[in-house]
Amino acid sequence: MATDKNKTLVSINMSHIPTHRTMYPIATILDRYPALVIDGALATELERRGCDLKDDLWSAKILLEQPEIIKQVHCDYFKAGADCAITASYQATIEGFSKRGLNEQQAIALIQKSVRLAVEARDEFWADESNRAGRSKPFVAASVGPYGAFLADGSEYRGNYGLTENQLIDFHRPRMKALIEAGPDMLACETIPCLMEAQALIKLLDEFQSTQAWISFSCRDETHVNEGQKLEDCVRLVEASPFVAAVGVNCTSPNYIASLIQEAKKATNKPVLVYPNSGETYDVARNHWDGHPVYESFGEEAKEWFHAGARLIGGCCRTTPEDIKVIANWARNPT
Ligand SMILES: [Zn+2]
Repeated sequence: MATDKNKTLVSINMSHIPTHRTMYPIATILDRYPALVIDGALATELERRGCDLKDDLWSAKILLEQPEIIKQVHCDYFKAGADCAITASYQATIEGFSKRGLNEQQAIALIQKSVRLAVEARDEFWADESNRAGRSKPFVAASVGPYGAFLADGSEYRGNYGLTENQLIDFHRPRMKALIEAGPDMLACETIPCLMEAQALIKLLDEFQSTQAWISFSCRDETHVNEGQKLEDCVRLVEASPFVAAVGVNCTSPNYIASLIQEAKKATNKPVLVYPNSGETYDVARNHWDGHPVYESFGEEAKEWFHAGARLIGGCCRTTPEDIKVIANWARNPT
C-alpha cells in the first residue's frame, strides 16, 4: 500500500462495514475463470418495468420511490449469470438529493441504500444452493458516477467540467465515504470522461486506504476518452494505484471496443474491463436514446473483446439480462 505518514487520512467508520465482504473479488473470480461477467444496464431494465426515469436523478429516483424494483433487477442479472451487481448510485449524490429537499443525512441514507439493495439481492441469490453450480459468489460494486452525471446534462460524454482537481475531489469525497461505509465489495468508478477526474478518484482511493475500485472511462473513438486525452495515457495514470483492481471502458460504442482494449493494454498489466452500451446514442435534450443497436447479438459479439484481451465483460446502457446471459454462457468456458 502507498502510505504517506504526513497525509491526513479520511476517517471511515469501519464498524458499519460488514466483515464478510470479499477483499479481492476480481482476483478471486479470475483465478477460477478466464473471464468475469459484469451486469448490464440498470436504468433500461427499470424503464422496461414501467419506471419513469425522465428526471435529473435518473435511476437514483427509483431509490426513493420503488427500491424493490432495483433489487429485483439485480436479482435478474445474477440469475442471468452476472458475477457482480453495479449499484444504483451512479447518479445518486448528496447535492442531487439536496435539490429535492432531502437533508444530508437522508441523502447519505439513500446512497447507502443502493448498496444494501444489491447486497440483499446477492445474499438471497447465493443462499439458494441451486444457484451456485459452476460459478463464483457474485460481488457488489458500488457505482461512483462522474461529476457529469450529477449535472445530468450529458457532461459525462464530453468532460470539460471547468473544475479543478481539488474541486472534483471535494465533490466525490462525501459520496465515496458513504458508499464505502455501506460495505460494498468494491467501488465501480465508471463513465469517467477525462484524465483529471481519474486523477481525483485515485487520490481519494489513496486517502481512504480501505477499498478497491475499478476505473472505467467513456470514450469517443478508437483511442480517446470523451474529453480528448488518449485512453492509453489515462490508463497509465491509474496503473500505479494499488487500489485499482481493473481498468477499462464503459458506456462507449461497441464499434470502438476492440481497439480501445489494445490501447489500454499498452499501459497496464491490470485486468482490462469493458462494458459498452448498445451503440445507440443518448439525446440529452429529449432524455431519449436514438439509433439502433450495433449488433444483433451483443452477447455473442462480446466474445471478440475477450479474444482482444479483456477479462471483465458486460454491458452498459440499453443492454439487458438476455445479453448478459449470452455472455455468461461462453465466459466461464470460452473457446
Ligand atoms: Zn451507460
